[in-house]
Amino acid sequence: MTSALPFLPFSKPTIDEATIAAVGDVLRSGWITSGPKVQAFEAQMSEYFGGRPVRTFNSGTCTMEIALRIAGIGPGDEVITTPISWVATANVIIEVGATPVFADIDPLTRNLDLDKVEAAITPRTKAIIPVYLSGLPVDMDRLYAIARKHNLRVVEDAAQAFGSEWKGQRIGAFGDFVSFSFQANKNITTGEGGALVLNTPEEARLAEKYRLQGVTRSGVDGIDVDVLGGKYNMSDIMAAIGLGQFANIAAITAHRRALARHYYECFGSDFEAKSGAQLPLQAFDSSNYHLFQIILPDNGPGTRANFMRALQEGYNIGTGYHYAPIHLFTMYRERGFKEGMFPVAERIGRLTVTLPMFYAMTMADVERTVAAVKAILIK
Ligand SMILES: *Cc1c(COP(=O)(O)O)cnc(C)c1O
Repeated sequence: MTSALPFLPFSKPTIDEATIAAVGDVLRSGWITSGPKVQAFEAQMSEYFGGRPVRTFNSGTCTMEIALRIAGIGPGDEVITTPISWVATANVIIEVGATPVFADIDPLTRNLDLDKVEAAITPRTKAIIPVYLSGLPVDMDRLYAIARKHNLRVVEDAAQAFGSEWKGQRIGAFGDFVSFSFQANKNITTGEGGALVLNTPEEARLAEKYRLQGVTRSGVDGIDVDVLGGKYNMSDIMAAIGLGQFANIAAITAHRRALARHYYECFGSDFEAKSGAQLPLQAFDSSNYHLFQIILPDNGPGTRANFMRALQEGYNIGTGYHYAPIHLFTMYRERGFKEGMFPVAERIGRLTVTLPMFYAMTMADVERTVAAVKAILIK
C-alpha cells in the first residue's frame, strides 16, 4: 500500500522570496561575515525581548556552553537538566568540565519535573538547564523560585521556544540566560545558528569575546586576548535569513497554534481512550507548537519503529522522535547512568513520536495525518 499523495515531512523550513533576495544582496555587498545584518538582527531581537541584550552565534549549542562559561561554571560543579532533550543540552555541561545531573520528567508536560529537580540539588549544584520541549515552557514561576532559593543560575534551553509565552510574557523577555536555536527545523531558522539573551552589558561583552577567540579590539589597531574564546560568530548571510524569518514570527506562531487546534479537533475527545495513545497538553496561550508529539500505546519492542514505518510506507507521511533518553547513550552510561534511573523519561523516550508540524503545512495535511494515525492505531 503506497499513498498517491506527495510525501509529507514532519518538518520543513519556509524561506520567502524577499528573504532569498536579501541573501543575494548580502552576497553581492562585499561583506558576508558578521556585519550590519548581524547587528540589525540582534537589535530587533533585543527590542522583541524588552530591551535585554541579545547576541547571535552559529548554533544553539555554543550559546548554552558560553552561558555556562559566563556563569563561571566548570570542574566540580553540578548542573541539573532533563534526559529528554537533544544531546547538546547535556553535552555542553561536560564541555565546560562540569557534571551533568539528570532529573526525571513529568509525564504530561514531558518537561523536567521540578519536584525532582529540587530533590537533585546538592551543595555542588550551580545551575539548572530546563528544556521547553516542543515549545512548552516549564512552570516558570516555580523554576525561578527554586533558582532563587538555592542561589542557582538558569540557562534556559529555549531552542524550541521562540515565540512561546508564560503568562503573557515572551520566553526570553525575562529570566536568566535564554538560549535559542535557529537550526533548519526550528520555528525560525538561519540555516544553522543561535541567539543568547543575557542580563547585563558586561555579560554581553563577555559573550562577544567567547564567540570570537577572546578578542577585544580598541582604537585603530588595538587588539588583546584575555579569555579563551572559540569561533562561534554568525555571518551576515545567516542573519539576512534570520531577519526575513523573524519578520514573520507572529504569523508562524499563530499558524502553528491553528494547526495544533485542528489536530486536537480531528483526533477528537475519544482518541486517547480508543487508541491508548497520549496527545500533547493543550497550551495555546503558551506553547509555540514547535513539535506535535504523541506517546504511542506500548506494544513492546519495535512499537515506535513499526508505527513510523507504517506511516511512511502506507501513507507517505514522515515522522521524527524527540528524543531518545540522553542518559542511556554510551558516553553517558560510561559516566554511571543506567536503565531504571529515570523511568518516565525512559518510557517516553521509547514511545514518543513527532507528527508533521511546520509553517507551510495545511489543515488538509493535518486531516490526512490524523486519518492515517487512527487507521494504524485504532483496530
Ligand atoms: C535544536 C536544539 C538544540 C541545539 O541547537 P543547535 O542550533 O542545533 O545547536 C538544543 N536543544 C534543543 C532542545 C534543541 O531542540
